[in-house]
Amino acid sequence: MICIKNLNKYYGDTQVLNDISIDIKKGEIFAIVGHSGAGKSTLMRCINGLEEYSEGSLKVNDKEIKSLSKEHLREFRKKIGMIFQHFSLIERKTVFDNVALPMQLWGYSQKEISKKVKELLDLVGLNDKIDAYPNQLSGGQKQRVAIARALTLDPEVLLSDEATSALDPNTTTSILNLLKEINEKLNITIVLVTHEMEVVKHIAQRALLLEHGNIIGFDVTEELFLKPDDKMKAFLGETEVVPQKGVNIKIYFPKDNVFQSFLTKMARELEMDFDIVWGKLEKINSHIVGNMVINIEEKDKDKVVTYINAHDIVWEVL
Ligand code: ADP
Repeated sequence: MICIKNLNKYYGDTQVLNDISIDIKKGEIFAIVGHSGAGKSTLMRCINGLEEYSEGSLKVNDKEIKSLSKEHLREFRKKIGMIFQHFSLIERKTVFDNVALPMQLWGYSQKEISKKVKELLDLVGLNDKIDAYPNQLSGGQKQRVAIARALTLDPEVLLSDEATSALDPNTTTSILNLLKEINEKLNITIVLVTHEMEVVKHIAQRALLLEHGNIIGFDVTEELFLKPDDKMKAFLGETEVVPQKGVNIKIYFPKDNVFQSFLTKMARELEMDFDIVWGKLEKINSHIVGNMVINIEEKDKDKVVTYINAHDIVWEVL
């Protein structure tokens, strides 16, 4: 649905996006992840036609964005909803009027507006706040209003720019669950820009990792976290302290396979001992994935490696 090929973007002489090639599929939840200054917002602004790109191609539904006329760009942007970190609500307008605004600007009738706003407030669970003003709402409620507003024109894509960054962890979870529900109920493609790994793990099906405008990872979320390469590890700030003696083997458990008693079975069958050095389990989307570092004696290395390989399990020596 969104197809980006060899995209380059410069501000003056500074290149802020370097050879970006990705595809975002219809109906998926896709995350653009990176630290501050990585180029995430710039990429998102290119996707919604707010920013021009210097070189390469960016097509949404087979239409090259930089070739759209002003009028077509306006039509195109109608199909893209946006939510932001600081909600961008109008303080002197009620919840109803905030949500109604895009429809008013596009000239819909009062009847259509009223029906749609009520439907959407129902969807985001805020029917009882219809006449409230933003300053009477919590952060999570404000973001719910912003989500309802972003959906009024039936967008095909919902772009979320750090929408949970100003919220506490519990509120973040409830907003992410709401986005997931919207994605499933309305089949809207969701593109999330975020620096929060928890957001990615919670709902993104695939993710793009950006650093200084370069792609350092682009994969299904479980894969990115299951077996992070060196760049990804540096990105996550993970360092592993392991014993100097013996051999340290890191074993990656594929999704939903972590509870197998693989290690104890291996120790029993090979008649050997091992120490568990380090391990972690994580919930990514609805799957549990994890890895574990074991320390074994040098003499056992070959038989352990043969055993692990025979069970089709990903591993590496640290
Ligand atoms: P992120 O969203 O990942 O924090 P941005 O896309 O906002 O990153 O910025 C990427 C880089 O581009 C940064 O180095 C930033 O300073 C620079 N930048 C962003 N907007 C502009 C602009 N309008 N003019 C010049 N440089 C910009």
